[in-house]
Amino acid sequence: MKLLKIKADMHIHSTYSDGKASPLEILYYAKEIGLQAIAITDHNTFKGAVKAREIAKGIPDPPIVVIGNEIRTQYGDVLVYCYEETDLPYTLPELIDKAHEENCLVVPAHPFDILRLGIGEYIYEFNGWDAIEVWNASASKRANKKAIEVSRLLGLPGIANSDAHIVDYIGIAYSIIEVNEPDIEELFKSIRKNRVRPHYGYPPFKTFIKRVLWSIEKFIT
Ligand SMILES: [Zn+2]
Repeated sequence: MKLLKIKADMHIHSTYSDGKASPLEILYYAKEIGLQAIAITDHNTFKGAVKAREIAKGIPDPPIVVIGNEIRTQYGDVLVYCYEETDLPYTLPELIDKAHEENCLVVPAHPFDILRLGIGEYIYEFNGWDAIEVWNASASKRANKKAIEVSRLLGLPGIANSDAHIVDYIGIAYSIIEVNEPDIEELFKSIRKNRVRPHYGYPPFKTFIKRVLWSIEKFIT
């Protein structure tokens, strides 16, 4: 069977947390730039992703919407990808166990970006990571380089994401995932089996400045 290549950005914030774009805007932009899968990963809520999934039903040929969440655990931020919205604990290692019971994937977000609450060296303390976010377009080169090294050391798949908080940031970094069928089950299976190729990228200067202005605004208002 011929494998399909899915272009996926699996770390995007919407208006359901500190993102500027609504789930609708995210979906249309993602489609326009040719992403075939997205995960909306608002902080501590699946609601943005659930909304996007609902809206996607009304769009012709929409990107696959993964139900995501960026959970702030006691050690740092962890991305969770699920089929449906589910209740998960905010502590490690309980989060990993419960997420796996629900067939969700658990991925440390920007693990070595300590300023932005990556889990850092705690990555070694837990088993059961399904992949590592080896490239985050909002993290430093140094932090990303370390994440790449650690994913190799631990033999874990590496994914690349934008961590977009504004619409033009979406797809700045992404992964190409090889699947048999374009659905979530296949997407998860392929990530677990490391049929993933991360594509590293940083935003153009203008987009970077827009993002900085947005972070200032969101803290003031
Ligand atoms: Zn994030």
